[in-house]
Amino acid sequence: MWTASTLAASIAITITMGCAHGPAVVAGPSTARGRPPTDAELGFVRHVASRVEQLRSLRYRTPVQVRVITAEGLLLEGLAGSDDERHLRMARRLHAVGLTHDPGTTVSAWARMRGSAASFYDSEADCIMLLEEALRLGLQERHVQAEAHLAHELTHALSAQHFGWAGGRQRPRSGLEMERRRALRMILEGEAELVQALYLAEARGVDPLAVLRSESSRNVDLVQGDSGFGRQADAYVRQEQFANYAYGLAFIQLVWRQRSWQGVDAVFRSPPSSTEQVLHPEKYFSRENPVEVTIPISPALRDAGYRRVDAGCLGELEAAVFFGRERDDLDFRAAGGWAGDAGEIYESPSGEAASVWISRWDDVAEAEEAEGAARALASHLPGGAAHNAVARRGVTLLVVQGLDEPLLSEVVRELLATESLR
Ligand SMILES: [Zn+2]
Repeated sequence: MWTASTLAASIAITITMGCAHGPAVVAGPSTARGRPPTDAELGFVRHVASRVEQLRSLRYRTPVQVRVITAEGLLLEGLAGSDDERHLRMARRLHAVGLTHDPGTTVSAWARMRGSAASFYDSEADCIMLLEEALRLGLQERHVQAEAHLAHELTHALSAQHFGWAGGRQRPRSGLEMERRRALRMILEGEAELVQALYLAEARGVDPLAVLRSESSRNVDLVQGDSGFGRQADAYVRQEQFANYAYGLAFIQLVWRQRSWQGVDAVFRSPPSSTEQVLHPEKYFSRENPVEVTIPISPALRDAGYRRVDAGCLGELEAAVFFGRERDDLDFRAAGGWAGDAGEIYESPSGEAASVWISRWDDVAEAEEAEGAARALASHLPGGAAHNAVARRGVTLLVVQGLDEPLLSEVVRELLATESLR
């Protein structure tokens, strides 16, 4: 995720021109990954950047570099092309926790997605990478959509300069940190989507709220698979690609309408800590923070030679994908009342995948609802009912997937006997 990377030290190029605070954007150097923009191209980007400053009520602190990237440059960025083996391994892990139906389908959906990569902001270099094609459209045909998309990327640069983005490309250290990063990506995309919509409305001379309504429903349609690319991907990939825009825009739009840009600035200074808080803004304002969940060690699993290959947290958003998997939809009813979770994926010596997922719920009624949804799914999970188990203790739900008997029952018995599940 480019937009979630650490903001690198500010670019040290400052060219003072006639305007009060120097140029918002400057030409980046020529590299294997892209060429500097021409004067006409740079003038066009500056025009959009100054509108972004007005619309977002912030000014660039240092000039953002701009480079023009070609199809070959995109390959070098790793945004096109493929790394099939790594992607297949990632897809198998998603399948092992029950988020997807078939690893091959996930890999091919990712490949289609990469093929449609557009311009982006590289926060490590504080550089906007513009696709030659999109720039040509914006410049020669005054294509308003291409301009608005550029405004989106320029908003990421503006926001990064003002608020900094913690995290970066290192692996998150905990499930809670994963949730915080996901929530941050959602509000970053929500902010950029809002500026993009305001830009479009201004350029077309129409009511901004009407544009926001149509952009919001377009994003939600993509998550739900009702349109375009969404129809070709399963619910996991759809939420992975589009939920940040859909639910991030809903959250930021609410804050902006109630508290203007100062309210949005305050959110960036104290970002939401979970996807739950973005999905339910009232839980952000009441600071209903997620609880930390840890997975106890199962000696039986270890003695059978299983080793842990991955660990993480679904959050309410991916929990909705899990509960909705049979309808290929997001089940927010079952996922509602989420309080925290943790998951681990294991591999047997012969390469078979298994997983343990432990979730906590706000109260027993919410836990029972999640339990019912998980039991209804059990026979559809990888390996069928004989290889999966669902158990609940109070507000804690346990789902174990991908083990044969008698190991399955033994692992469930051991986990239920531990302190954290009693
Ligand atoms: Zn973006």
